[in-house]
Amino acid sequence: MSQVFMDCPDTGKPVYVGLSMEWDQLESLEMGSVDREVSECPHCGKTHRFGKKDLFLRADGGG
Ligand SMILES: [Zn+2]
Repeated sequence: MSQVFMDCPDTGKPVYVGLSMEWDQLESLEMGSVDREVSECPHCGKTHRFGKKDLFLRADGGG
């Protein structure tokens, strides 16, 4: 399983959005009209909204 990140728009650093999935799951993910957001970004402390296009995966190293 890989962890889903977005780039913090203020610092450009990756922020874990609280989801874990694989690429095929991300590709088929229906974000729809649901607003998703990261509250209290660890880098800047703000709340960031994100869409599917903002997301990328990082392997957690556990295989
Ligand atoms: Zn941020």
